[in-house]
Parts: sequence; C-alpha cells; structure tokens
Amino acid sequence: MRVLIAEDEYSISDFIKRGLEKAGFSCGQAFDGEAACDMADENEYDLVLLDVMLPKADGFEVMEYIRNKNTPVIFITARSSVQDRVRGLTLGADDYLVKPFEMIELLARIDAVMRRLGRGSKEVKLGDVVLNLQSRMCFRAGEEVKLSGREFDLAVFMMQNANTALFRETIYEHVWREDYMGDTRTIDLHVMRLRKKLGWEERLKTVSRIGYRLNGEK
Ligand code: CA
Repeated sequence: MRVLIAEDEYSISDFIKRGLEKAGFSCGQAFDGEAACDMADENEYDLVLLDVMLPKADGFEVMEYIRNKNTPVIFITARSSVQDRVRGLTLGADDYLVKPFEMIELLARIDAVMRRLGRGSKEVKLGDVVLNLQSRMCFRAGEEVKLSGREFDLAVFMMQNANTALFRETIYEHVWREDYMGDTRTIDLHVMRLRKKLGWEERLKTVSRIGYRLNGEK
C-alpha cells in the first residue's frame, strides 16, 4: 500500500514514514501543499495523510484538488477545533487525527478507514495471479500455486511495484530484509522460479544494469 504523507514538519513526517514503512507501507513525502498536489498527480496512492496547516496550499485546498481522485484522506491537524473537523468532513476527508498522536493510533485509523472503504490490502492481483496476504496462498487462474516464503514475498513486492524498474538492491533489501552484498544469484534464481511458476516469462523483465520490472495492469 502506498501512502502520501503531506506534512511540513520534517520530524513528524519522518516519524510517520518510519512507522508506516515498518508496518509494510511504502511512503511518499510532500512538505508543502503544492508538492502534495504534484505528487498526487504523478503517483497512485492508496491513502493520503494530510496536514491541515501546510505552506503554499493548505490541507483544505489540497483536499479540494485531490478529491476527484477518490483516494482516502486522513487529516492530521494540530487544531482540534470542531469547525476544522466539520469543514474537513464536508470536503470528504475520511477521518481525523489530532497531533500529537502515537503510531499505533495512526495505524488503527488507517486500518479502520481502509476496511470501511473495502480497500484493505488483503489481496494483491495482477493478471491471472492473486496473492492472499492473510493466508499467504497464491492462485494462478484460480488454481493454487505453491510458493516458498521468499517467492511469495518477492511476488508481493513485484506486484505492489508493478511497471517500475526495481534495482536488485532494492528488491533484496525489501524481500530478504538484509543488506545487499552484491550477490545477484539469489534474486535471479527466485525470479526464474516465479517466472516459471506464475507464467511470468513475458511479464517479469530483466532491466539491463538495474534489475527487474514486472509489467502489467493491476
Ligand atoms: Ca503543519
């Protein structure tokens, strides 16, 4: 799941980013309202965390700009006044969080919003391949395919970042969760296995000098 963090206080933004990444989200950071609009245009996010008091364009203006994208928005505000809440909800924000807050509270709000919208990331799909993140089962055209733990994690990571050329280093650090020491064979072997098991011979491309890219509509 990809989250845009629009927050001008670097320490808070980084605190949110660290916490969300630990929970398995990938994050973009915007430090003013204009940058938030640009990033929302250029990327597809599953959720926007939007500070109300932002330079250049405030959270309400950003909300108006991005609301036609139908991306869920949680406002983050230092101001707990009723007026702000009413205004934000009128504009279509899905929830509020008042600073300061704890990471566990933010994660709970995100979870609640995504479940309410039926967008919980319990499944990842691409083409005829479906991965169930809860049961960790993999299906291709409705038939179960047995994947090892690493193969499953690699498939999830490639599918969540489809159409993006990924460095071997990035892949390794996300999937193996260890520092990459330059050994390409481990990743290459797993990629070969996935190509074979999931019929990704055409989809999972080698990108010269970089690594791999999984092609396809989500
Ligand atoms: Ca602010």
